Amino acid sequence: MTILFQSLIHDPDLWIDALQPALPDEDIRPLAEIDDKASVDAAIVLAPPHGLLASLPNLKFVQNLGAGVDGLLKDPSYPRHLPLARMVDDGLANKMAEYVVLHVLRYHRQVEAMQFNQRNKIWKWLPPVDASERCIGIMGMGELGIAAAKRLLGFGFQVVSWSRRLKAIDGVASFHGADQLEGFLRHCQMLVCLLPLTPETTGIINRRTLSLLPRGAYVINAGRGGHVAEHDLLHALDNDYIAGATLDVFAEEPLRQDHPFWVHPKVTVTPHNAADIIPSRVVPYIADNIRRLREGRPLLRLVDMKTGY
Ligand code: NAP
Repeated sequence: MTILFQSLIHDPDLWIDALQPALPDEDIRPLAEIDDKASVDAAIVLAPPHGLLASLPNLKFVQNLGAGVDGLLKDPSYPRHLPLARMVDDGLANKMAEYVVLHVLRYHRQVEAMQFNQRNKIWKWLPPVDASERCIGIMGMGELGIAAAKRLLGFGFQVVSWSRRLKAIDGVASFHGADQLEGFLRHCQMLVCLLPLTPETTGIINRRTLSLLPRGAYVINAGRGGHVAEHDLLHALDNDYIAGATLDVFAEEPLRQDHPFWVHPKVTVTPHNAADIIPSRVVPYIADNIRRLREGRPLLRLVDMKTGY
């Protein structure tokens, strides 16, 4: 049988070269080299074209090459009965934690105001705020949220979190469930979104939830673009209710040339590269799952199709 490797962004030759030594008995091929679709029984993918996976009649397992599976599940023909594993490793969590710390510190240390002053040759002392007086709220306390929270605690910030189920993480006040969303948001001087995109979380950063943040709050979204109601965020920024937003992910990617986020003075745009995986770090995880598949052992990091993450 054959393993299909297909990714919208990753170089298949590079990945297959990295995977093959870890799985010497497997036949791993890019889509262009699959002559018989019936020969494929496992697929390692990132954002495959809609319909591709449904067209593989003997497919038994899908390994996603990213942490979020919303793109796959958006495909109406996606074979939801098959086991689907997502990919998160320490390297990805580390990268995301760096991204969150970078932008939290940028706002905390008023870097934009200082850059403005430099451009205008203004020597102005800005009063400092102690990290212990800033509360950072993390929406989505999974593998990435926990990694980011731990780093922020190290800087002395107050950290609160919101997830579906209650968490017990030292130093972090945990809010959970829809009923506690409002209480959580009222604490967040900076709101960091690291949620998966599901029907429950789509559009969760909207006019109502933004209005529950303290005036002058910042928003950092590295979850998915679909979490943000873009017009509501722009409205809150233009009204000076929200002080700034850092956005790594967008409803439509790449961001359209005429999108107002590109030039908005309070918005920082990054091109969906807060965190990614690298072959040397994740090949052992992928190989382990393929071996488990072959030996009929439990697969790791399986997505719960009921919750969608
Ligand atoms: P994860 O381990 O599955 O954690 C998801 C977290 O979200 C969990 O804490 C979960 O709560 C919470 N959650 C889910 N639905 C919820 C709801 N309806 N209400 C409240 N909380 C909810 O995911 P992860 O590995 O941390 O990744 C999170 C997301 O980051 C991915 O899905 C992806 O969209 C995004 N991401 C972005 C990049 C980038 O480069 N920008 C890179 C990688 C990933 P429970 O713990 O209670 O289940």
